Amino acid sequence: MGNKVAFISDSAYLEHHTGLGHPESPQRLAAIWEKLAYAGLWDELTHIEPVPASADDLLMAHGGDYIEQVGRDIEAGRTMLSSGDTSISPRSFDIALLAVGGAMQAVDAVCSGKVTSAFCAVRPPGHHATADAGMGFCIFNNAAIAARYAQKNHGIERVLIVDWDVHHGNGTQEIFYDNPSVFYFSTHQFGIYPMPMTGLGYDGQRGEGKGEGANINYPLPMGAGDDEIIAAFTEHLVPAMAEFSPEMVVISAGFDCIASDPIGGLGVTDEGIAALTRIVMDIATASADGRIISLLEGGYDLPGLASATTTHIRTMMEKR
Ligand SMILES: [Zn+2]
Repeated sequence: MGNKVAFISDSAYLEHHTGLGHPESPQRLAAIWEKLAYAGLWDELTHIEPVPASADDLLMAHGGDYIEQVGRDIEAGRTMLSSGDTSISPRSFDIALLAVGGAMQAVDAVCSGKVTSAFCAVRPPGHHATADAGMGFCIFNNAAIAARYAQKNHGIERVLIVDWDVHHGNGTQEIFYDNPSVFYFSTHQFGIYPMPMTGLGYDGQRGEGKGEGANINYPLPMGAGDDEIIAAFTEHLVPAMAEFSPEMVVISAGFDCIASDPIGGLGVTDEGIAALTRIVMDIATASADGRIISLLEGGYDLPGLASATTTHIRTMMEKR
């Protein structure tokens, strides 16, 4: 018997609209659902219907002023958040709450032992959202809230957030930069969004204050593929985790690192995604009873996204 894996998604996630031609489209989720069914995995998964988080839950990672600003921007009928470059539509606040709620239910399912791991096919993604601003295609930071929720409600002390999205998760780094209990590890393509505007994502940034040592950035040059990203994980993440010993692992699973992605310039294959998944599973098995909450971030080539996501989920079902 393999591992039990929860799958959390909902057609309501299609109701966050980003505008015609926007890469972060509702079709991304439809492509994943279809591929999972086609691959015969749909019926093997433990399906959990998401319920929305409350606005108070958002306070675990965001300031009250920013949360209210999102509400006002949407109420006013804006198509972009006033904090920056993030597309919004009339239902976006509710759907963003449902994305956060889905991540929190994944934590409940994994921490209660109902499943070993969970994949959340949610929109909007979260890793660029800082405490006080939406950014990129992100409104609220799903991964950050999942980590804090596990600490607050399930007695989890140390959380690892692994982020293999092609972009640096500036929001996640910022939220936990001085926090020793949440370790952030990110591989991403060097020099692309959002590194030039945030100044974050460089390899010398190791955390500050009590959080010193709990942040690792491993930017990769354009064109890097499986060998380089796997080496980053085995040579830098694995030894750090032998010491940190996480009790839960959150993956910011961005599939814009794969070769066919129209935005990213890395060359990761499905085999590479399987290898990264196994490395993270081994870390989770060693100190976290296998607990992994994997959250969809980027990934914009629909067939490539669907294939890589399916490979990732199939791998999580393997017994380690
Ligand atoms: Zn991305």
